[in-house]
Amino acid sequence: MTKLHLFNTKTRQIEEFIPQNPANVKIYTCGPTVYNFAHIGNFASYIYWDLLVRTLKINHLTPHRIINITDVGHLASDADDGEDKLEKGAKRENKTVWEIAKFYETAFIKDFNALNLLPPTKFCRATDYIREDLEVINTLIERGYTYETSDGIYFDTSKFATYADFARLDLDNLRAGARVDFNSEKRNVSDFAIWKFIKPGEDHAMQWDFQGKKGYPGWHLECSTISHFELGEPLDIHAGGIDHIPIHHTNEIAQSEAAFGKTMANYWLHANFITIDNQKISKSLDNTYSIQDLRDRGFSPLDFKLWILQGHYQSERNFTFEGLAAAKNRRLHWLNRLAKTLQETTHTENQAALLTQIQKTDYQTTELQEALLTQIQKSDYQTTDLQEKLTAIINQNLNSAEVFAEIDQNELALDDWHFIDKLFGLRFFDSLILPSNEIQTLIKERTEAKQNKDYAKADQIREELKSHNFSILDTNQTSFWQYLESPMI
Ligand code: AMP
Ligand code: ZN
Repeated sequence: MTKLHLFNTKTRQIEEFIPQNPANVKIYTCGPTVYNFAHIGNFASYIYWDLLVRTLKINHLTPHRIINITDVGHLASDADDGEDKLEKGAKRENKTVWEIAKFYETAFIKDFNALNLLPPTKFCRATDYIREDLEVINTLIERGYTYETSDGIYFDTSKFATYADFARLDLDNLRAGARVDFNSEKRNVSDFAIWKFIKPGEDHAMQWDFQGKKGYPGWHLECSTISHFELGEPLDIHAGGIDHIPIHHTNEIAQSEAAFGKTMANYWLHANFITIDNQKISKSLDNTYSIQDLRDRGFSPLDFKLWILQGHYQSERNFTFEGLAAAKNRRLHWLNRLAKTLQETTHTENQAALLTQIQKTDYQTTELQEALLTQIQKSDYQTTDLQEKLTAIINQNLNSAEVFAEIDQNELALDDWHFIDKLFGLRFFDSLILPSNEIQTLIKERTEAKQNKDYAKADQIREELKSHNFSILDTNQTSFWQYLESPMI
């Protein structure tokens, strides 16, 4: 079997993934700043990292994953100036920063769940780690990596010899390109704040005491702190958006390695961006679609998840609603294939109980069926050659597009669909709404009407079935029920 291989930004190469401990694979994913609804671009990377986590599990590895929630300190510009995004959100909505953070964190987690993304071991809020931040700051001060200016405590990047390595930065060029009016108290252009002081008259609701002055942490610090206290160095995998490479992750590495003296992470994964109609996602273009916006246009969050998984995390993708509609059709087509396979499988008498494993059914369960059901749930699913092949493909740097092509080209057994659901979390089994007894009766009556050549009645029943979202697929031997539209889950 092909072992899992991933593209490591650190080496710019695809490498075999070797965890330190297969039973505890330490993963840290940079999380959302909760000042607004996350847009579909933000969710693209969480979908890719969900695939990563699911792929680890398929490979019998146990992930231990932390996602941070940024609820303080992320300034409008990544370069330590501009307003705190949370404060900005609070003013916009006339609420407190704490209310804003709570509201958008809840909204984020709701969308996260709607996309059926596996929950991390823990979501960690930046504001819950201030004491730990201050410990890290003290260590950095003691080790001589910092200096103080009138507006904060800064990390002196010239003291960290390998600062430019990760992002392959050209520091001379950076220096030359720096704005003339850049913070003149900074010793180097690339230096960054680990702690910001509240300026006299500054309206910053979130504030804590450090050395007798009020302030708040710099944005990059929370990831070093949380990953250290929750997981410890080195992390197996650190993941984030491609935009994090030159500033955020470069700064995280500098802080963590300077403070803790160990490699921060063994593998770094970065997700590329999506554009919408070939334009970047931005407020001014009014294209910051949220998951709810997709719902309002008749798309399930799972249609979007499927659309994302049709591509590769390292490729820039262009989103269009036509493309999303095609993904929605693909999901329906696959669901109907599964429905047909399920019906074919249940034609064998002793597998009738399979029907009952799906929640939304009003079938009568007999004792025998229940016994079979217990067995089915216990035994999980049988591995097939096809699943081995699909695992080998996904193990090549998360090549979901190629797995999708295989799904289109192969006959899949029920067990294979279970495998697909485990690998992609597209909830095919949950989407199967079985026909009620009344619908089953209608289907039977239609078959009889057809046999009696009463086509008018057969057509009339077909129309009635449509209003219940069922269609009929006739084959030479038998008829199968299918869905007209995939359920909105
Ligand atoms: P936040 O801190 O919540 O503003 O998260 C923003 C992060 O979402 C960025 O740092 C990117 O990694 C990611 N992101 C933003 N826009 C896009 C996009 N168009 N496509 C993919 N990822 C994006
Ligand atoms: Zn981070």
